[in-house]
Amino acid sequence: MDKNIETVLSYVNIVEEISGFVKLKKTGRNYTGLCPFHSEKTPSFSVNETKGLYYCFGCGKGGNVITFLKEIRGDSFSDIVDYLKNKYNIPVEYTKFRKTDSSSQAENPVKKIINLAVNFYYENLFVYISNSRHIMNYLNERGINVDVAKDFKLGYAGFGNGLTALLKSVKADLDIAADMGLLVKKDDYNKVYADRFVNKLIIPIMDRTGEPIALASRIITRERDQLSNNFPKYINTNNSEIFVKNNTLYGLDKALPFIKKENAVIVVEGYFDMITLYANGIKNIVATMGTALSKNHISSLSRLCDEIVLLYDGDKAGINAINRGMELFREFMDSSDKNIYAACLSGGEDPDTYVRKFGSENLIKLINESKKPPVEFAIDYYVEKNKKSGIIKNNEESRLKSKISVIKDVVPYFKKIGNNIIFSHYVNILANKLGLNENVIRRYIESNKSWIGTGNTDYSLDTAYEISIKEDMGIEDIIVSKIFCNLVLTEYISDDIISEFSDKDAVYIIKEIQNAVKKGASQEIIKGAVEEIISGTVNADKWKRIYYSGLMSENSGNREDFKKLLMKLKVNNIDKICRDILEAIKSGNLDEKGKVIKFQELNRLKYISKEFQKKICGY
Ligand SMILES: [Zn+2]
Repeated sequence: MDKNIETVLSYVNIVEEISGFVKLKKTGRNYTGLCPFHSEKTPSFSVNETKGLYYCFGCGKGGNVITFLKEIRGDSFSDIVDYLKNKYNIPVEYTKFRKTDSSSQAENPVKKIINLAVNFYYENLFVYISNSRHIMNYLNERGINVDVAKDFKLGYAGFGNGLTALLKSVKADLDIAADMGLLVKKDDYNKVYADRFVNKLIIPIMDRTGEPIALASRIITRERDQLSNNFPKYINTNNSEIFVKNNTLYGLDKALPFIKKENAVIVVEGYFDMITLYANGIKNIVATMGTALSKNHISSLSRLCDEIVLLYDGDKAGINAINRGMELFREFMDSSDKNIYAACLSGGEDPDTYVRKFGSENLIKLINESKKPPVEFAIDYYVEKNKKSGIIKNNEESRLKSKISVIKDVVPYFKKIGNNIIFSHYVNILANKLGLNENVIRRYIESNKSWIGTGNTDYSLDTAYEISIKEDMGIEDIIVSKIFCNLVLTEYISDDIISEFSDKDAVYIIKEIQNAVKKGASQEIIKGAVEEIISGTVNADKWKRIYYSGLMSENSGNREDFKKLLMKLKVNNIDKICRDILEAIKSGNLDEKGKVIKFQELNRLKYISKEFQKKICGY
């Protein structure tokens, strides 16, 4: 490994860096959390602070802090080194990476173009104020002052083709800008382009580090009155290599430190809900960008904090969002240590108007009083729905029917509950709401019982690790894993012992390491080459997992234990031969003389095996 990179790594705390993306908990020697690279509900992502390594036992991703940031931010190697160097004030030169790395941020055309566009629109709003006074008025009406607008880098797209001209002047690729949805191509043959956004309010969308990745445009109110109601209020730039709308949460860059501080996040539906609440002091807040809440949204938030509150508008769209969200809640409600709540504002208010009328303290109070776990939300929702649709009537029979219909609606939510106490809790709530005896409800649910008992079982990281070890690691795997921890151990592996191995990968790995040792390579160099050796095996994923398992645990690679493992390998092989001989004797295909010879062989092998066993156990 390059010396400069080693210096960088020695300055950086991997736990601190990864904590920006994953909520880590100290468990034993390591830190664990929900893996950001695959979807999971129980943590199998592990970080070793002293070794500066992370590894996911679920999907097999692992490496050091640079690998992590590179993967999660999608930035180039040199960008990450840049970022770390500046953040930790690390005194290294690394110019050689700059030259060889072509994907650095400054050269990524998509990033460059979106940066130019965001700054262009921002200047339009704040430098040429006379042209954009109507935008400022509009923002003021919504309670957004100049400071807040600047903080969120809001902008104005005026009339004309200013952005097209700017991009041309810096020789940006206009086709890419058109693909991104910033320009429109008027004439394919002559390559004539024009600005896509005209007289619009511009809301830039940042990634969680505060870098622009896309933008949204909004029609100004006066213009909207002249358009049909179906015309969308907001238009986004297109998905690109740096922007996927359904995965992005608006405002996460600003909210991130507050989400961690509060260990909770509030999710709203609109840009202005997010901006207004943030400006009014509710800072642990993000918004879905006019899209439905997605599984990705919830899983990325559940990695950052323990409580997620989904705050919906009280109007019809809000109720519809809850209806859509139900499926998602069901998926997530069984994860034991995350609390997901839904809260709904009544009377047609949205969070933006509510906070401006009544203030942030009242909104927080309202959220805390009205937030409910999804099952309870579902119960109330379906009770209300049945009331509204007039099913709950005054005669006894139809009332009972409507109650049964509520139970039918909520049974799917009960299905996901894996815990008996929680199950009873909600049966009790449902019974009270419907004025029915608990046992009646219980009996009804149990008559649809096929799913009971299929609830989630607790599955801790330790057991996941244990199982992965037990399931996949035979004696040969364990021997190789010890070698990974202490390369010198290959000294004990003679050609005689090599012949005991049946796994070709294991033999390959051992021989490669032995060759390197023979050539006089230092431990450090061989360590650096191990991943490369692994990539040459047939079952590289498995070996990589074993390699990291060893690194993450404090596996010592003790010599005496290792010698015993080698003897155990011999014993196992002898035992296998013994079993084969026994099979042959039992088969009845041998004459008496043949049987006697086989018995003698068997006794000899059993003796050797016993001697080895004695050595292994020490008696
Ligand atoms: Zn993973």
